[in-house]
Amino acid sequence: MISAFESFFEIQKKIHKLLFSWIPFSVGDVLYILLGIFLFYFIIKCFKKKSRNESLLKILILINIFYFTYQIFWGMLYFQKPIIAKLPETEITLEKRKNLALKYLEKCKQTRLLVNENQQGVFNALNIKNIQVEILNQQNKLPSFISDKKADKVNSIKPSLFKNVMSFTGILGYYNPFTAEAQYNAELPSSYLLFTLAHESSHQLGFAREQEANFIGYLIGINSSNPELRYSTEYFTLKSLLNSIIYEDENFVNNALKNYSAGMKRDRTYEREFILQHQGWLNDFFGFTNNLFLKSNQQEGSVTYSYFIDLLVRYEK
Ligand SMILES: [Zn+2]
Repeated sequence: MISAFESFFEIQKKIHKLLFSWIPFSVGDVLYILLGIFLFYFIIKCFKKKSRNESLLKILILINIFYFTYQIFWGMLYFQKPIIAKLPETEITLEKRKNLALKYLEKCKQTRLLVNENQQGVFNALNIKNIQVEILNQQNKLPSFISDKKADKVNSIKPSLFKNVMSFTGILGYYNPFTAEAQYNAELPSSYLLFTLAHESSHQLGFAREQEANFIGYLIGINSSNPELRYSTEYFTLKSLLNSIIYEDENFVNNALKNYSAGMKRDRTYEREFILQHQGWLNDFFGFTNNLFLKSNQQEGSVTYSYFIDLLVRYEK
């Protein structure tokens, strides 16, 4: 049953990419704006007694059509076999996470030397379009035991029309199942931005769950020969690992932060400034974490690591 939906998703995506990918702006965003206008119009009409029943009916029909389309285009993919079932069993110990954090800190330091900087010495990606092409290439090289999805090279990754709203709400990117477009916030610091592209492209490939999109994004970025994409991915991985450690060993995390290279420290400062400028609302919306010192955000029970960390440790085994 689920595989039927997976095949349907492939066909739907192919058609939608054909229809919308060549249009330079996000058609999905325009669709959302139109939907908003229609809903607003019918809601206003609800206030008038004469047209109330008819308007209410139209609102319900509109919501139902959208919900139904969303479910068959996208919602069913949440029922796919989880990636964790394809990876070996292992215990996710603090020790393993620390070792991985040290490994990725070293990788970050090395790769950081190869990336472009702006005048302030902050990492600034040279060419976003080239990175997108590289991401689509890497989609073809994913290990087959993890993904057997067909990657096409049609680029339908676009800047969102709502970038201001995104910066203030902490949304880095999103996938639009109605048009098969992937949107990103073009205002983001490069350190966030490139991995966000990889993450959203993973949704486009057909991975619905957030942390699985992170993991596929990780596989895309970590093996890239493009140092900028690799750095953004290694940096995301390092931050996720440190976040999983801080509840158990704060000293280890503080030491790691001290051991950032000068370039990495500038990137971190810039990320924090970006967040502060946007009122600090940029929270842990997509597991992109800058809340290294917000212990209140602890997850349930004794488990402090995310599903992404679970996948990462198993994969690294
Ligand atoms: Zn996502």
